[in-house]
Amino acid sequence: MSPKKSAATAKTSFSRRDENAYLALKKGEERKLEAYCREYMDFLSAAKTEREAHDLAVAAARAKGFRNLDECLAAGKPLEPGTKVYRSCRGKTLFLAVVGKKPLAEGLHIVGGHTDSPRLDAKPNPLYEDGEVALLDTHYYGGIKKYQWVALPLALHGVVVKTTGETVTVNIGEDLADPVFVITDLLPHLGKDQAEKKLAEAIPGEGLNVLFGSRPSPDTEEKDKVKHRLLGLLHERYGIVEEDFVSAELEIVPAGPARELGLDRSMILGYGHDDRICAYAGLRGLLDLTETPEYTAVVLLCDKEEIGSVGATGMDSVFFENSVAELLALGGEARQELVLRRCLERSRMLSADVNVLHDPNFPDVSSPNNAARINHGVAIAKYTGARGKGGSSDASAEFMAEIRRVFDAAGVAWQMAELGKVDQGGGGTIAMFLARYGMDVVDCGVGLFSMHAPWEVAGKLDTYMTYKAYHAFFADAR
Ligand code: MN
Ligand code: MN
Repeated sequence: MSPKKSAATAKTSFSRRDENAYLALKKGEERKLEAYCREYMDFLSAAKTEREAHDLAVAAARAKGFRNLDECLAAGKPLEPGTKVYRSCRGKTLFLAVVGKKPLAEGLHIVGGHTDSPRLDAKPNPLYEDGEVALLDTHYYGGIKKYQWVALPLALHGVVVKTTGETVTVNIGEDLADPVFVITDLLPHLGKDQAEKKLAEAIPGEGLNVLFGSRPSPDTEEKDKVKHRLLGLLHERYGIVEEDFVSAELEIVPAGPARELGLDRSMILGYGHDDRICAYAGLRGLLDLTETPEYTAVVLLCDKEEIGSVGATGMDSVFFENSVAELLALGGEARQELVLRRCLERSRMLSADVNVLHDPNFPDVSSPNNAARINHGVAIAKYTGARGKGGSSDASAEFMAEIRRVFDAAGVAWQMAELGKVDQGGGGTIAMFLARYGMDVVDCGVGLFSMHAPWEVAGKLDTYMTYKAYHAFFADAR
């Protein structure tokens, strides 16, 4: 793409997809970029599950004056331009809004990302003993390459809910003083048969058993002495018994914080960039608004994207629609179904999800002129899908032009992206679930190396430009 310099593009030094945007980065902007990336890394290190991301987002929003929408309704608080509210779905999915100057029926500006990431979930009956060690049986969540999850330090995050209703929060393996966990792999000396298997079959799903302990209890006649002692430790520390695993959500994730990557510190290595990197950018883009926007600005932080956006907390549920209806109710328009429909249809959305970067280690899978390049800016995907755009929400040319205008005017470095060569595969996002209301939607986010691996790679410039892009979209008056 080689756009002619128009009045709009003349304002910015960016928007050339064939140039690394670091080359045009000004000193003052570099300081903002580094500060933003440090704050993002702190968030990413602390938010390793959808619940943790939700709670951190609520705390950050409350500190900026956001109030619970349901409580505002109960208190009869009126809906005025500048009102800041949030609404939670089961402590996992979050809706945040800053009410704009225009009526809601004129539509919303939405940035929607997801906060769940590929991981291993403990099964409902996870703890067992075999070969004088205790293990946690897992069921993986999302699209993982199973062989990547062995022989690396793992942490255990989640909640256990007792029948009394008390919720116990678990977080083991992040503090340097904590123990970590691991899934063992076969030594190469005895790996002849394993090495001949296909990559996808070398480590089977049922082989992802987390090593949990090895010291037997001398105080029991039971056969499983290691398990017995571990249950004692769990009871001591958390007051839980074995049956409580049934009402738990325990996620096994890579242990340790996000780190700067590269001798030049130009990248970030972290677990769960997909999609907390876009979710955080949307959240910050909203929280950092200094003036009341023209259009009501909404951020959606969704759960369950990695398994198809299903369930009550997934984007395929009506939680978003209900939340907009509640917002209308706050403005006294509760009974007007037509207002809700108009609001949704006239809305615009950036589907905030990650894309793939052209990787010199795997050059054959990307389409050379349409692949995102590291540090060329936020990656816009007109369509996603697979094999003939199947399952995609293809953004209209008109909306693409709007987005170009907004990003250029704000000095956002952006590039076009396509998820791999046409017949190679593909992917989907939450775009289609919002597009069905008739609104304009386009996919737009950070390109990654090693997407869905335990440790994913993002360029700092892309990380920052994505935040800047979402912020500009919220502030845009059209
Ligand atoms: Mn994603
Ligand atoms: Mn994903």
